[in-house]
Amino acid sequence: MKALPRILVVVLLAAAVAGVLALKSRSTAPEPAAGAAEAVVSPEPAQAAQETPVPEAPVAAPAPPEGLPRLVELGADKCVPCKMMAPILDELKTEYAGKMDVQFIDVWKNPRAGEEYGIQLIPTQIFFDGSGKELFRHTGFFPKEDILAAWKELGFDFGTAPDKEPAFSRWAPAQPDTRPRDAVCYLCDGDIDARTRTVMSTPAGDVGFCAPHCYVITFASLTDEAKSHQNAAVTDWTAGTRVPVMEAVYLYGMDENGRPEVKAFAGRNAAEAERARSGGNVFSWEQFEAKETAARCGFCDRPVYPEDASVVRVDGMQTWGCCVMCALGVAARTGKDIHMTARDVLTGEPITVTTLEGHVAKLEPPSAVAWAGARKDPEGKIVSTGCFKQGFFASEANLRKWVEAHPAATGHQVTIEQALVAKMKLTPEQISKACKIGECAPR
Ligand SMILES: [Zn+2]
Ligand SMILES: [Zn+2]
Repeated sequence: MKALPRILVVVLLAAAVAGVLALKSRSTAPEPAAGAAEAVVSPEPAQAAQETPVPEAPVAAPAPPEGLPRLVELGADKCVPCKMMAPILDELKTEYAGKMDVQFIDVWKNPRAGEEYGIQLIPTQIFFDGSGKELFRHTGFFPKEDILAAWKELGFDFGTAPDKEPAFSRWAPAQPDTRPRDAVCYLCDGDIDARTRTVMSTPAGDVGFCAPHCYVITFASLTDEAKSHQNAAVTDWTAGTRVPVMEAVYLYGMDENGRPEVKAFAGRNAAEAERARSGGNVFSWEQFEAKETAARCGFCDRPVYPEDASVVRVDGMQTWGCCVMCALGVAARTGKDIHMTARDVLTGEPITVTTLEGHVAKLEPPSAVAWAGARKDPEGKIVSTGCFKQGFFASEANLRKWVEAHPAATGHQVTIEQALVAKMKLTPEQISKACKIGECAPR
């Protein structure tokens, strides 16, 4: 019975909050605020009167199948943690049918149930054995694996969930990537345009980037103390010659989406001539670098173009996730609830995620899923293929369409809740090393 004392503490803490919530509920609208648990206060009388009267159903739930352990949740359809619990209860109900009875009672529609079960807060989950004896109760959001762990502590081992339809995955490319290595950006895997090629010399040979931006991101991720821009060169946009990055001048323009478009030149005259044609501003390396590194990922600190990034709001402030997984990681790094907006990789439609205590509280559209770009290492361990291979999709159908159109992509479909929970499990040390070249080096 190791886990139970900890769980009980949560209940006690939640109980302390109850008074405050109860007071608040009297003076505010009935729509409850987000929180671990809501006080069991029925909607205001005025509001209740508008609702369809619910017949006074017998409080005791229908008799469970003979001898089955029973999980009863008392909640309400409008309470935020209760809404988060609903899919979990549905899953338990179907996955453990015949092993466990799962019930939900709405105490705002059926207030007598709250009294009957003696609950103070919602959601409250009560565990009963097969004879109907109460074994344990918990208040607030209760993740599925914790519910199963609690049952196990109580002596009921339901085993792991029966295999569901396997989520979509692909571990071997449908077609190998046959592009020559020096035509592929080391960081983003994009094609390298000869006019924007940026090269970093390393003891192991030259590393090529599609543009100065990918070089700037990589440089920021290097953990080598002795790193220096002296090892890097850009390409003169018109002459095609190599120019050390710190000696070049940069024409900083903008594409039709507002994303920076950068052209490098050996000298100011050539840059000014191009500026007269295409607009923009001419910067020295110092000015260019300052602009490039002004916005950073709120999880891994890498420089980002906001136009490429997911927007994350945390505590009323805005930051970015350089990829969707990093955006979720802001919840782990800050320990706070976040609201993030990403775009469907295939269609560009917005996908928003609101978290509550390390779990997904709201997902819009609810059908949205994540593609975890990954590969299996020789031991079969799943390894991320990096930020540029991660994405959200509004539906599984969009994800499959995108994967089909990208024969080199490997990885697997995960739920956004799974992706968030994986981030929440990272230690502060793992977070501080996230996306650093050397700790998470590309192939
Ligand atoms: Zn690139
Ligand atoms: Zn990041």
